[in-house]
Amino acid sequence: MTKKERFEKIIDYFSVHQPVAETELQYENPFQLLIAVILSAQCTDKRVNMVTPTLFKTYPKPELLAAAHSDEVFKYIRSISYPNNKAKHLVGMANMLVKEFKGIVPSEIKDLEKLPGVGRKTANVIASVVYNKPAMAVDTHVFRVSARLGLTTNSKTPLDTEKQLVKYIPENKIAIAHHWLILHGRYTCIARNPKCGECKLTEFCNYFHKKNKALKIEK
Ligand code: SF4
Repeated sequence: MTKKERFEKIIDYFSVHQPVAETELQYENPFQLLIAVILSAQCTDKRVNMVTPTLFKTYPKPELLAAAHSDEVFKYIRSISYPNNKAKHLVGMANMLVKEFKGIVPSEIKDLEKLPGVGRKTANVIASVVYNKPAMAVDTHVFRVSARLGLTTNSKTPLDTEKQLVKYIPENKIAIAHHWLILHGRYTCIARNPKCGECKLTEFCNYFHKKNKALKIEK
């Protein structure tokens, strides 16, 4: 199977079986999504969703978060990973939003990446989810699932994975493909023990074929 065919089959599968795929982070506007994505680094969406309602209520606008002290913000996010750093990032991000972007979450990836706490992955999430741009955010799930399926080859970095994926995925499917791969990685193709028995992509999956081949040789 060529790389192109593999992409086509997998995209076809998800298009039919998962026509709707969205972030599991809860938010009501771009500012809230930006906060939630910053908080979600190395933390589960479920845990982030537990702290954000109070946080959003306390700091509904960038101006209010910008005026807060990070120690104050820390109290609301102490149960998630790296609360100290993330509290500082949130206040810094809000400050820059107010000072340089008139309080509006920017749409350009290069502008988003200037914000404290925002790396390429977060910038791509905002660009694709909020502004519907063809940006592929690569997190740990996207990186792992793409490699196992054989959508990427010898990728060593998230940026490499991003480049390999956008080369083959049609522009209008890039945003949803990000969610397909994340959700597949979160619930089926999990890191330690992928649930290949439940997976409908075995036919197209490099990892599955290699594993089965190895088992046959052992026998
Ligand atoms: S067959 Fe297994 S390794 Fe391949 S995508 Fe499915 S769950 Fe992941």
